[in-house]
Amino acid sequence: MNYSKQRELILNTLKENVVHPTAEYLYEILKENNPNLSLGTVYRNLNQLAENGTIKKIEGLENSSHFDHNTHEHFHFICDKCKRVFDISVNIAPDIALKTEKETGFIVKGYDIAIHGICNECKNK
Ligand SMILES: [Zn+2]
Ligand SMILES: [Zn+2]
Repeated sequence: MNYSKQRELILNTLKENVVHPTAEYLYEILKENNPNLSLGTVYRNLNQLAENGTIKKIEGLENSSHFDHNTHEHFHFICDKCKRVFDISVNIAPDIALKTEKETGFIVKGYDIAIHGICNECKNK
């Protein structure tokens, strides 16, 4: 498989798994149909895609980085039970960057807001 095909495959698999998977999680899915693919290749491609802005790398959620195909501004909700990460609309707290700048005079370059709790699926268990 050539490089661009590999990258496309990894990107598409990320898009199909909207719970912000780690490289390890994606690798487990990918290797079923692509036994030649290595975890290193998955890592490298995800990092390259994050560097050129196609996807977003989320650090600091857990030990390993999670990857996000949604590059629009949004918050994250992390389920403490299943550890899945859901997207939350910025509408729950609009103008957070603007308000921070007004309040502090700082220049906001970005934010990484994570809300913790229990998702609906785990709640109903
Ligand atoms: Zn859950
Ligand atoms: Zn997200």
